[in-house]
Amino acid sequence: MDFASPADLSPLPTAEAPRDCPLCPRLVEFRHQCRAEHPDWWNAPVPVFGDPQAWLGIVGLAPGKQGANRTGRPFTGDYAGDLLYATLARFGLSEGDYAAHLGDGLRLKGAIILNAVKCLPPQNKTLPAEEANCRPFLLTAIAQLPRLTSFIALGKVAHDTLCRSFSVPLARARFAHGAVHALPDGRTLYDSYHCSRYNQNTRRLDAGMFEAVFERAIADRDG
Ligand code: SF4
Repeated sequence: MDFASPADLSPLPTAEAPRDCPLCPRLVEFRHQCRAEHPDWWNAPVPVFGDPQAWLGIVGLAPGKQGANRTGRPFTGDYAGDLLYATLARFGLSEGDYAAHLGDGLRLKGAIILNAVKCLPPQNKTLPAEEANCRPFLLTAIAQLPRLTSFIALGKVAHDTLCRSFSVPLARARFAHGAVHALPDGRTLYDSYHCSRYNQNTRRLDAGMFEAVFERAIADRDG
């Protein structure tokens, strides 16, 4: 089956990894395994999705197996995506109906979704070396977003990746749900627990807690 390249699907084509990015051997091996098991799935680095004029960057951990790794769009087709896309719609950050597949016509308005790591990790756990390998793609994407003033980090790995990206010592910016951190370049980082199925099922995160993070970011934007 022929697939598009990540760049072909991206609003920031020059910030994307190639479809067969070789930089993380463990993830490459897992990718090949998934391609053998599910040849009709995306099974490649997942491109960013959203508005290139976004003020808000939402940074997740890595593709979910049944979600982005299957469909080729961040958070699309899995449990985490149901809450994220419902929240984006609720705050007017999307246009059209989310229907959990690439062709649903959904567009983001003022928001863009990026991942700390672009390839599916086994057991949803990334390694520090993989986070470091993929960070240049994230930094290149951020550099191409002229209106970006705010980030929402979904989980500690995304938080730590953003801190490292902006040379913020982790000891001075500890991750906590609802925490807000000023970044040295004037942008703001808002922390949220990841909207994963696990966090929702264990009631670590509910819709109200998740929405409160977006509400705060929007209130700060509006002054
Ligand atoms: S995670 Fe990033 S750096 Fe590693 S192989 Fe995938 S695209 Fe390349």
